[in-house]
Amino acid sequence: MSYKAEYIWIDGTQPTARLRSKTKILADGAELPLWGFDGSSTNQAPGKSSDCVLKPVFTCPDPIRGGNDVLVLCEVLDTDMTPHPSNTRARLREVAERFADQDSWFGIEQEYTFFKDGRPLGFPVGGFPAPQGFYYCGVGADEVFGRDIVEAHLEACLEAGLAISGINAEVMPGQWEFQVGPAGPLEVSDQLWVARWLLYRIAEEFDVSATLDPKPVKGDWNGAGAHTNFSTKAMRAGYDAIITACEALGEKSQEHIAGYGAEIEHRLTGMHETAPWSEYSYGVSNRGASVRIPWQVEVEKQGYIEDRRPNANCDPYVVTRLIVGTCCEALEKAGLA
Ligand code: ADP
Ligand code: MN
Ligand code: MN
Ligand code: MN
Repeated sequence: MSYKAEYIWIDGTQPTARLRSKTKILADGAELPLWGFDGSSTNQAPGKSSDCVLKPVFTCPDPIRGGNDVLVLCEVLDTDMTPHPSNTRARLREVAERFADQDSWFGIEQEYTFFKDGRPLGFPVGGFPAPQGFYYCGVGADEVFGRDIVEAHLEACLEAGLAISGINAEVMPGQWEFQVGPAGPLEVSDQLWVARWLLYRIAEEFDVSATLDPKPVKGDWNGAGAHTNFSTKAMRAGYDAIITACEALGEKSQEHIAGYGAEIEHRLTGMHETAPWSEYSYGVSNRGASVRIPWQVEVEKQGYIEDRRPNANCDPYVVTRLIVGTCCEALEKAGLA
């Protein structure tokens, strides 16, 4: 007997990396070996020295194939076993380890948009649907498009054992969200990448494509983000730490914006529930701020903050690395770690 392992990795495409995967057949009980691939086909190596190495780092049951089959998320290494330049997970590992004692948690809200025949699901041929207003958390065939895919994806994430914490229909027709977390920076990022792979793979069965394009339709239509909710042990215990984190994010605002996903200026315009990318702000309950402090957090004087800036197409390894680096360092300096 044998089982199938779907090796999944993140490629080297710029400015936004893509997911790749291929299948390995393994003897029952066999451990997951290192594997390789042709980096010259994934923007990760030149043709004359094309071998890249796949190192399994996160495994879960494969909800599509079932049985003993597994999904295997990998880091990409060079043949000398050092992290490949495209391997942003390796850089997160260092920062996460340095601040591990602060026990960072993340909950990421992944927004995305279904496309079919070159237009968002629910958009009529050659035109536009009724303006935004009723689609967010809507119900009914005139408001909701693609729910069968969304339900299949949710079920698959649960079967895979991912820490998916909810789903909702979004503001633009054909646009949806799922949330992963709360979990540590590496865990949430690994699981988000696998949840994205499952989304593409399941939508494929419905002949629909899912995109993380941050501004899939120009004009008066919401973009797609990846609001990143964050807390440390100290933030979950007191308000000084909450404010320290908000202030620290302001001091490194442009460094964060640069790592929060390609074409972020097209989404963070100051309209459509965003703050302009060039001006940092934070506030209680404010969905027009860069960072929101949820109202219960102000009441209870403890909890978490929501960085509303990351794009749907962001790399969670980069986003969580920036947030842990900036906030945990500031908390440490303030004696709040
Ligand atoms: P919104 O009201 O912005 O739509 P959501 O309910 O979609 O928020 O997402 C909130 C996310 O924050 C969830 O993934 C949840 O698990 C996560 N979360 C809750 N508490 C914490 C915490 N203390 N630290 C980090 N993330 C948290
Ligand atoms: Mn949400
Ligand atoms: Mn949302
Ligand atoms: Mn949110």
